[in-house]
Amino acid sequence: MELMEAIERYESEVRSYVRSFPTVFEKAQGSYLYDINGKAYLDFFAGASVLNYGHNHPELKKALIDYLAGDNITHSLDMASRARAEFLITFHEKILEPRGLSHRVQFPGPTGTNAVESALKVARKTKGREKIIAFTNAFHGMTLGSLSVTGNAFKRAGAGLPLTHSDPMPFDGYLGEGFNTIDYLERVLDDTGSGVDQPAAVITETIQAEGGVNIASAEWLRRLQALCRKHDMLLIVDDIQAGCGRTGKFFSFEEAGLDPDLITISKSLSGYGLPLALTLVKPEYDIWEPGEHNGTFRGHNPAFVTAKRAIDLFWSDESFSREVAAKGCYIREALEKLASKYPETLGKVRGRGMLQAVEFAHKELASTISAKAFTHGLIIETAGPVDAVLKFLPPLTIEQADLDKGLQIIDRCVIEAMDELGVGAPRAAGQ
Ligand SMILES: *Cc1c(COP(=O)(O)O)cnc(C)c1O
Repeated sequence: MELMEAIERYESEVRSYVRSFPTVFEKAQGSYLYDINGKAYLDFFAGASVLNYGHNHPELKKALIDYLAGDNITHSLDMASRARAEFLITFHEKILEPRGLSHRVQFPGPTGTNAVESALKVARKTKGREKIIAFTNAFHGMTLGSLSVTGNAFKRAGAGLPLTHSDPMPFDGYLGEGFNTIDYLERVLDDTGSGVDQPAAVITETIQAEGGVNIASAEWLRRLQALCRKHDMLLIVDDIQAGCGRTGKFFSFEEAGLDPDLITISKSLSGYGLPLALTLVKPEYDIWEPGEHNGTFRGHNPAFVTAKRAIDLFWSDESFSREVAAKGCYIREALEKLASKYPETLGKVRGRGMLQAVEFAHKELASTISAKAFTHGLIIETAGPVDAVLKFLPPLTIEQADLDKGLQIIDRCVIEAMDELGVGAPRAAGQ
């Protein structure tokens, strides 16, 4: 049987990315994936920012192979292991301490949604209240608690039951320019007539990556934090996609100078595509009883090994951070240039660091460009409630030549897609 046929016949209908990128991948290295026919695909998606350091980074691979070859611990529930302890030391010394963060590290389970569930539990247990404030177009994962703070109607409907105990509020920019949505939040929290019960916490992303690359300004985030303090609510920052260096700093909230009570990270944390998630909890809110939140896979030893190595390699000094910032500016300028060529079709370019995006006026354009890019050997995904946004997430380690190559493919696909859909005739040169 053909391999793709096996997937179509045996795997559940729920499969999704395989439909957008319909080939059978076999190998990967750096910024490239290769399918079973040997065709190369430049990766501008990086596993939704799981592969910030590229595919099969040689140094991380070596650490993993050495670890496995040495018969070191693979699974130990949450019993102590050398790999676990060494990861904690490195994470503390190179990530938390230099940023003035005193958070305890909880291993909530292997995936991002486990980290979110845990954060919600901690907030509710600490404050003894049920409500959580979440934002329009937020994405926090697929389990019930995470879904209840997620915006997308299609994903929410999958729950099959009412999603309660959360209140959606407008994210930064949701009501257009000239309307500061934090004023609205402040008003409903201050006013005892608003009908909004006092929440236990607010959960937010700093950049809503799945939700369409919507950016919260530093000022908006700081005011949100101040509101949390004023109204005795915990601030949860979900840094699962925007964290681990994607925006230039290790945490995406560093630029705004936030001090979140709870932080979730996962995706690129292991650096190698191995599942690993953390809920970072301020010591005063680490109110768990031993084993109160349990789970079989709470800290995967091989993932500790690659995570530690990735931190040693990329986060021992500022050089990587600067490199990401520079590449981010480069992508940004290229996209702005493209947008200025087709002002009727391409909207404002937005993003921070190496999480950049373009919105299209014609909602089919982004998906058409993504499909065309695939045929030209480039993997790039759409985002937002109607998939009208093209999201640029190349590995942070991408070589300059590959970045240029990918951006050129996009230029070409924009023209091809506009032709196909008969939209947005390009302006004459020099106009
Ligand atoms: C991916 C993601 C999650 C969920 O992580 P999973 O590992 O898919 O459960 C939660 N929040 C954000 C911001 C994400 O990008």
